[in-house]
Amino acid sequence: MKFLRIGLFVFGGVAVALGVGLATLMLVRDDLSSFDRQFIVSQEPTTPAITVRYMGNTNLLISDGTTTLLTDGWFSRPSTSELLFGKIAPDLDAISDAMTKGNIGEVTAVIPVHSHYDHAMDSPEVARRTGALLVGSESTANIGRGWGLPEEQIRVVGSEEPIRFGDFTVTLIKSQHFQFPDPDMAAAALEDPVITEPLVPPVNALDYKMGGAYSVHVAHPLGTFLLQGSAGYVTGALDEYRADVVILGVGGVAAQTRSYQQDYWEQIVRVLRPDRVFPVHWDSLTDPLQDEPVMPNLLWSRVLDFQAEAGVNYALENARNDGIDAALFPMWEEVVLFPQ
Ligand SMILES: [Zn+2]
Repeated sequence: MKFLRIGLFVFGGVAVALGVGLATLMLVRDDLSSFDRQFIVSQEPTTPAITVRYMGNTNLLISDGTTTLLTDGWFSRPSTSELLFGKIAPDLDAISDAMTKGNIGEVTAVIPVHSHYDHAMDSPEVARRTGALLVGSESTANIGRGWGLPEEQIRVVGSEEPIRFGDFTVTLIKSQHFQFPDPDMAAAALEDPVITEPLVPPVNALDYKMGGAYSVHVAHPLGTFLLQGSAGYVTGALDEYRADVVILGVGGVAAQTRSYQQDYWEQIVRVLRPDRVFPVHWDSLTDPLQDEPVMPNLLWSRVLDFQAEAGVNYALENARNDGIDAALFPMWEEVVLFPQ
């Protein structure tokens, strides 16, 4: 009887400790408050201007008043358990809410930075609703085909093949995905990267294979910018390009080696010689989109090494050292990128 009581006591203690540990991992988040002063302020656009509306992760609605482009358009946020144990599909209500909140009307092109679920999963549905062309790799095209997007709304482009949308010239330049520190995760997410058949959701998250990871270069008479969605680089790939603004994916960069971090900054930012850098891809991938950005919880930030807060600091510190302006986009608000 005594042993049974001790056994129950120990078992209860372990269960409580596990519960507290799990709650801590799920509820404690990276701290955003230290970046409060970094958010740029939205302003009434003068004409002509290029505006950007940031909507979490690498979702950017870009407009010059005549032509509107959207990168990714990923508004569903499958939960951690759905990602690990279930199947995922676009969340139509979440897409509707985000399109209302982001004031997304007619769009000329939807351009995912690569084909992982957290970029390209919703792109065909957003293209369907906005009349946009879905632009990207063969893998991105197969996500569109699996969703039933008509072939005339799909455009497969090669690396460094410029496409014109109004006054915008968009060039996808083959880059690298960031390197997952965990070898099993790296193999699962990056090896065998092509979606060869139309992908019909619901599917496992890893069925959204990477396709190609691209730097998205956008040139316009008013200014030029580059979006680097994933924190990877190809040495020399951007040598021939320039950009006034770099929008830099920092998710996972803080978990890389010091030399990788230096090379990433050198190969993406320094070669392009921008005046300003905006870190993106630092908010939570598993919480619904809200009015304000939500930071990842400790499970994602530390155990899975996403390291959002450290990633933002990486960009801010490197920019300061190089004498480049750095700022964060506010959520859902239209801000003027050029001229300013
Ligand atoms: Zn990815």
